[in-house]
Amino acid sequence: MPVDLHTHSNASDGTDPPAEIIRLAASADLTAIALTDHDTLSGLDEARTAARTAGIDFIPGVELSVDHTGHKIHMLAYYVEPTGGPLQDQLPWLRAGRDERNEQILQRLADLGHPVTIDEVREHAHGEAVGRPHIADALVARGESVDRSDAFRKYLADGGPAYVERARLTATEAIDLTRSSGGVTVIAHPSTIGLDAPGYNRLFSELAETGLGGIEVFYPEHSPELRAHLARVATSLGLAATGGSDYHGTGKPGISIGTGRGDLVVPDISVDELLAHRP
Ligand code: AMP
Ligand code: ZN
Ligand code: FE
Ligand code: FE
Repeated sequence: MPVDLHTHSNASDGTDPPAEIIRLAASADLTAIALTDHDTLSGLDEARTAARTAGIDFIPGVELSVDHTGHKIHMLAYYVEPTGGPLQDQLPWLRAGRDERNEQILQRLADLGHPVTIDEVREHAHGEAVGRPHIADALVARGESVDRSDAFRKYLADGGPAYVERARLTATEAIDLTRSSGGVTVIAHPSTIGLDAPGYNRLFSELAETGLGGIEVFYPEHSPELRAHLARVATSLGLAATGGSDYHGTGKPGISIGTGRGDLVVPDISVDELLAHRP
């Protein structure tokens, strides 16, 4: 039976409450679901309670944006509990970095003639992890952009006119902190890192040596050939082959829980492989 190990609720930049994510997972007949909001664990309790009622296995998670030798990588950390630990202790710092950066982005937008206020941005954010997608929502509400993608394309994407860097952990810090918190890390959507083939080989083997647990193999934007290739890479390095939809509700149109764009199947053995990498 399929699972989905990558979803976002309105605790970060998804648009559905955590309990709705679980309801959708149940109606897709998934046996396990992970919630992986950006830089926050605040949706986990609601999701776990709903999963218990629905009879679905729940895997707590969080998605981190990390730096590795100048490359920006998203990393999923699983089995990180909201009750505390070394990784958990870093999350307030990461969110403070977001707040600082949001102010800087708004300054850039004002300089570009779009004086969006932080209150306008907060109208679109329900949780404590506020970011570029909520700024995009505020630009859409002003009629400045037609949707989130349009706002990213025009202003907010990496290297765009309103883009500003933010505080990040390094990949090895994220791996170490997650392991000492009892968790497992997975490189999210590796296709977005933008390396050449030798670069990917180096990245996967370097991080596997430092305690990485898995690679996100099954992902909507990965072709069947790429999924097969990444599955072989994961096996050869002794890493878990995981996957998920990266569901964001209406924040990312066309993506459904469990099935992604219609052809996603994340096998439940992914969860066993993840569990096998717990410290
Ligand atoms: P932030 O975490 O504030 O840096 O914002 C990054 C998040 O914005 C990503 O994790 C995606 O959820 C979302 N995002 C990135 N690029 C786009 C895009 N082109 N269109 C819509 N959403 C995007
Ligand atoms: Zn997101
Ligand atoms: Fe991501
Ligand atoms: Fe994500």
